[in-house]
Formats: sequence, structure tokens, C-alpha cells
Amino acid sequence: MVIDLDRCTACGACAVACAQENNAPFGSPTDSPETRVIRWMEVLRAAQDGNHNATVRMIPMPCQHCEHPPCTKVCPVYATYRNPEGLVPQIYYRCIGCRYCVNACPYTCKYFNWTEPEWPETSVRGLNPDVSIRHKGVTEKCNFCMHRLQRAKDDAAAEGRAIQDGDYRTACQQACPAKAITFGNLDDPSTQVARAAESPRTTHLLEDLGTEPKVYYLREGA
Ligand code: SF4
Repeated sequence: MVIDLDRCTACGACAVACAQENNAPFGSPTDSPETRVIRWMEVLRAAQDGNHNATVRMIPMPCQHCEHPPCTKVCPVYATYRNPEGLVPQIYYRCIGCRYCVNACPYTCKYFNWTEPEWPETSVRGLNPDVSIRHKGVTEKCNFCMHRLQRAKDDAAAEGRAIQDGDYRTACQQACPAKAITFGNLDDPSTQVARAAESPRTTHLLEDLGTEPKVYYLREGA
């Protein structure tokens, strides 16, 4: 995934679309001060100090789907792992809720379900049937809308062809009015995302840790 911070207006549409697509509960006023609201895509505020000229940059933050994810190394039951496509899925029915992965993730992208998820009566019919509900006691996180990927693969297979660039978009990418998010196969140099990742404006978050995130951020002066 490539996120162009020079295009992002911090409108938050990505976070709203992600929550709606992936059946994230709204969170309650009590969850909020305890930082227990579940947001697979968050728009973080990062202050930058200049010469007497502090600026604030807003950074959309999904799971970074690291090439060397610290979260998978500490999971005792293999509930989180790096798959052959380079994604880092989370298997909710295998998770035992130990929360080692929550603590290991340097990007704070993992969320533990402290309570059973709840929605107002009027919202229940809006839940996405393609995404399972996570119950109390398990950890969850962004999975780059893997259900959309699977559907695109099935559709391509039914048409007797390989999946192509642009066959599917993540919910955050689709909702972004500024077209700041690009998604696809980074290993294929012909894809839009691979070309965007070649930009001289490319940077990664917490690069020094060596996790090799697969979310590339673009910003002037990177
Ligand atoms: S960002 Fe965190 S949760 Fe996502 S793969 Fe990296 S270590 Fe794991």
C-alpha cells in the first residue's frame, strides 16, 4: 500500500470506511479514555518541529503488514503469521487472547476485544456479511480487506484468467476522495502501487526497527 501524505486531507473517510467494511464496533464513552476503541485504520496526529515553526501532519495508519513482523514471532498459537502473498492475517478462532502481539507491534496496530462488540439496533442490518464478528477475548487488526481480495480472485478464476492490477481495492482506498491511497501487488513492477513506491518521496514509519513495513508513505522532503 502507498499513502501519499501530500494528497491526504485528513478527512477521516478511510477510517470510517474501514470500520463500516470490517464491522468494527463504534466504541463507548468508557472505551475511549481507556484507548479501547477498535480502529483498524486510524488517522494519527504527528507534530513536527521546525525553526520556531511547528507543524502537525496527519498520518493514516493501517497495519503495516511488515516483511519481518514482530507480532508473529511472539504468538504462541500461530494465530498471526505472514502468508505467501506477504500479508499478515489474524485468525480469530485460534487466538487465545494472550496479547503478546499487541505489545510486540511497534505501530500499535493490534486491538484486543475487552468486551463483546455491540451496535445500536438500527446499525445491525448494516453489518458486512463477508467479514466475521470478533468476540470478546481475541485480538484483531487490519487485514487489507482480504475478503475483497478473495472475491476478486474467485471472479478472475471464474473468468479463467489471473487476477489483474485494479481488480480490487481496499475499503479505505475506495473511500479516499483525494485518491491518496494506492493498493496492489508491490512485487509486480508494472502495477500502479509498485510505480508509486518508486517515488523519491517514499518513506517508512519507524524504519530503524527493520520491520520493513509494506505501507509506503510519500511526502515532500522525505
Ligand atoms: S504493523 Fe504491527 S500488527 Fe502489523 S504486521 Fe507489523 S508488527 Fe504486526
